[in-house]
Amino acid sequence: MLEINGNLGEAGGQIVRSSLTLSMLTQTPFRMINVRAGRKPTGLKKQHQTAVSAAARVCNACVTGNSLGSGTFTFEPNAIQSGTYRFDIGTAGSTTLIMQTLLPALMFADGTFEIEVTGGTHNPWAPTFDFLQKAYQPIVRQMGGDVRLDISRIGFYPKGGGQISADVQPAESWKPLDLVKRGKEVSRVVRPLVAKLPLHIAERECRTIETTDGWKKAKYRVEENNNSFSPGNVVTIELSFEKITEVFTALGKQGTPAQKVAKTALRAATEYLESEAVVGDYLADQLMLPMAIAADKFGHTYRYRTHAPSDHSTTHAALIGQFLDVEVDMQPQGENDYVFSIHRS
Ligand code: AMP
Repeated sequence: MLEINGNLGEAGGQIVRSSLTLSMLTQTPFRMINVRAGRKPTGLKKQHQTAVSAAARVCNACVTGNSLGSGTFTFEPNAIQSGTYRFDIGTAGSTTLIMQTLLPALMFADGTFEIEVTGGTHNPWAPTFDFLQKAYQPIVRQMGGDVRLDISRIGFYPKGGGQISADVQPAESWKPLDLVKRGKEVSRVVRPLVAKLPLHIAERECRTIETTDGWKKAKYRVEENNNSFSPGNVVTIELSFEKITEVFTALGKQGTPAQKVAKTALRAATEYLESEAVVGDYLADQLMLPMAIAADKFGHTYRYRTHAPSDHSTTHAALIGQFLDVEVDMQPQGENDYVFSIHRS
C-alpha cells in the first residue's frame, strides 16, 4: 500500500483530496499519515471526511480511520461506478472542494455521473462556485472533459445548506493545451452579491471599484439572492480574454467594511492584470491535477504561464509524482513569471 505523508509541503487538505482522486483513478490503495499536519486543528475535518466518504461511495472503496480529527486513514479503491450520487457535508464546508476531488477522476472514467453536493458554496480558502464554473470548468472543457456545473442554492457560513451539481458525460477525446498568452481582453465584469443583507453593501462595492482608475468601463451587475440560509456577501470579478477567463473573489465578513471587501478582490485582479500570467495562482494549483492525469493517460503536454509557484502548487506537483509518471516543470521566465509544463516523465 502506498504511504502518503500528509506532512508533505503545505500539509493541508489538498493532499487528502488529491490522493483520493489519484487513488480512485489509478486504483492504487494508500495509507495517509500526519493528515493535515500543517493546519490547526490537524486531522480530518467534516469537509475532508466527506471527501473520503464521497470518493469511497463512487468506487466502493474499503476505508479505515475516516473519523473527525483522525490523523491516519487508509483507502482501498475498487472500480468507479457510474450513477447519481448525493453528498451532504452537514456543515458549511466547501462543496467545490468535494467536486474537485471527484471530477478529475470521473471525467476520465467511462460512464455518466450526476453529482450533487450540499454545504458551503462561497467559502474563504476555497474556490467559490463562480470560480469553479467560470474559471475551472471552461479549461477542463477545452481539454475535452464533458462536465456541466450548476448551483441551485447558495450556501454561506455558518449554516451552509448550499447545493451544487455536476453532470459528467464520457469525454470524446482529450486534447493538449498551451496557455502561454491570454489574448485580447474580451470583457471585465464585476458582480457583487448580497444574500439577506442590504443592497447598499453591493452598491458600495461597485462604487469602490468603479471609481478606481481603469475600471469605469467594466460591466457592473449587482445581485440579490435571498434563498440562502445564512446571510452573505461576495464580490466576484471575472476577467475574460480570448484564451482564458480568470475569476477573483473576496468574501464579506461582519465588521469588514464593504469598501475593503471590494478592494481585496480588486487587488487580486489588478495584480493579475499587471502581470504576464495567463493562469492565476489558485487555478495554477487546481489545473495541475486534471492536466497531469491527461498527460499520464494520453501523453499530452500542458503548459501555462503563471506567477511564482505557490505552496499549493509545489505540494501538488510532488504528490502527483507519487501516483503518476508525470513531471511538473516550473520554469522561471522572470521575477514572479513562470511557465509550468506538465508531461510524462
Ligand atoms: P487546502 O488549503 O489544502 O484545503 O486547499 C485549498 C484549495 O482552495 C487550493 O486548491 C486553493 O487553490 C483553493 N483556493 C483557496 N482560496 C481560493 C480563492 N480565493 N479562489 C480560488 N481558489 C481558492
